[in-house]
Amino acid sequence: MGWRNVSTRSAVSGFQTFALVLAIACGLECALRGAEVDDAAASITADDLMRHIRTLASDEFEGRAPGTKGERLTVGYLTGEFQRMGLKPGNPDGSYVQPVPLVGTTATDVSVSYRAGEKRTDLVFPAEAVVWTKRFVPEINVVDSELVFVGYGVVAPEYGWDDFKGVDVRGKTIVILINDPPVPDPSDPLKLDGKVFNGSAMTYYGRWTYKYEIAAKQGAAAAIIVHETGPAGYPWAVVEGSNSRENFDLQSADRNMSRLAVEGWITLDKAKQLFAAAGQNFDQLKQSAVRRDFKPVPLGAKASFRFNNTLREVSSQNVIAKLEGSDPKLRNEYIVYTAHWDHLGRDTGLAGDQIFNGARDNASGVATLLELAEALGKLKTAPRRTMLFLSVTAEEKGLLGAKHYAAHPLYPLRRTLADFNIDSANPWGRTRDVNVIGYGQSTLEDVLQDVATAKGRTPTPDAEPEKGRYYRSDHFEFAKVGVPGLYLQSGVQFIGKPEEFGRQKIGAYTANDYHKVTDEIGADWDLSGMADDAGLLLEVGMRVANGEDYPKWKAGSEFKARREEMLKQAADK
Ligand SMILES: [Zn+2]
Repeated sequence: MGWRNVSTRSAVSGFQTFALVLAIACGLECALRGAEVDDAAASITADDLMRHIRTLASDEFEGRAPGTKGERLTVGYLTGEFQRMGLKPGNPDGSYVQPVPLVGTTATDVSVSYRAGEKRTDLVFPAEAVVWTKRFVPEINVVDSELVFVGYGVVAPEYGWDDFKGVDVRGKTIVILINDPPVPDPSDPLKLDGKVFNGSAMTYYGRWTYKYEIAAKQGAAAAIIVHETGPAGYPWAVVEGSNSRENFDLQSADRNMSRLAVEGWITLDKAKQLFAAAGQNFDQLKQSAVRRDFKPVPLGAKASFRFNNTLREVSSQNVIAKLEGSDPKLRNEYIVYTAHWDHLGRDTGLAGDQIFNGARDNASGVATLLELAEALGKLKTAPRRTMLFLSVTAEEKGLLGAKHYAAHPLYPLRRTLADFNIDSANPWGRTRDVNVIGYGQSTLEDVLQDVATAKGRTPTPDAEPEKGRYYRSDHFEFAKVGVPGLYLQSGVQFIGKPEEFGRQKIGAYTANDYHKVTDEIGADWDLSGMADDAGLLLEVGMRVANGEDYPKWKAGSEFKARREEMLKQAADK
């Protein structure tokens, strides 16, 4: 349903408060416009959101894996919806899609083992160890590679931190801990030192993607991360579900030969056994790794990996629509909304339900994106700057669709003011608060603060900064190239619900449904909060699209320098 048909109480009350303030501030025309934006935000309803989610998360869509029937259906649905809404093709070539060339790799006949002394131990794939290669080669055979424990595997000059200390790990298999080194505060050992690695918040050094990047730079043959649920931010089942089947990467000229031969994870239990077999104590070594003077520890054991690697080229697609700006000068500046359409597909090896429906992750975000696009598209006067609605592919495979867009932007990134990312919206009802992931990053949060306050809502800092969520969804690829990104997540203060309701729902989802076949529409779902959050994002986007200033990274953001350099270069031209 479109918002023009909606003449509701909330729109009227919105008009009353807004019109009065705005009529004084900027005249009648402006006030009507404020009311119109209010109407647009209010036009996004739970029913409309649910309709999209039902389709996208249906079994027919087979879990929306890139390069499958699920992709064809999803891309068809999104394109059809954007057309129906009267939005223009977002690709300047006149289409609604941007091809994203991927290579799928599947490890088969996997053998993982280690030798300590005379004893050889095999690890069960994928229950005890998950391994893969990002190299585009038909097989991997790493034999008797020396195992070295490198602590957190971090090289961070700004903190005077180097876990490798010049130790040669070329051709070796390094064992790495997940997350940042949890350095205790010298004055209070029960707390983490806020001066290094952002205290308890995860920095990019804590992410698994970083661990493999640094390992490859050091010339290691293989890097195995020890899984721990707390520091990783998710249980072993997520590692297993996400990585043990087909893996994807973007096509690359060097066929990814600069990457590690083997990337992988091992369960905590099996890691402890490995260390014990080698005469080492895992817990003690882990303790020693929180110190700046930690040095890599050769384990005196050797690892072997053998598997076949089936390659498949897949042309996947980002889907993009455009709402042209109404200001002739500003319409060549851009605001992007992103939501990944892909999910984990189906696993024919599973008994019973085989389809990863991804109802929350991320049919909910795509539904929000579609509703935002529809509501904005119906405004009598479009925002001054151009709005892009980008539904990216292969987020679950490492943010690949967003990474591809950032590397091959359809519109200049220096004139892209912001990315608003929607990934896993709130399906449990209305909240007073809204959680800002990576709180403190950019001035987009100041705009959010204004809009939220006017709506009687409160933005709150990332409730679990230690999980590093700012580095785990598509806005991160925009951030990495300099474009400020805002990523909101469900609040926890649910209206009319007991205090602990929110944390319980979110906790249960992470433990039971996240990246599992049970991520389906729940009997308890109430999308009124999702509609609120969509309305909030709509108004924040409008403010930026109509505002005078470019949003900025705040002091201390790791992305600030990149943006400033980019804008300076643009100004020099
Ligand atoms: Zn996901």
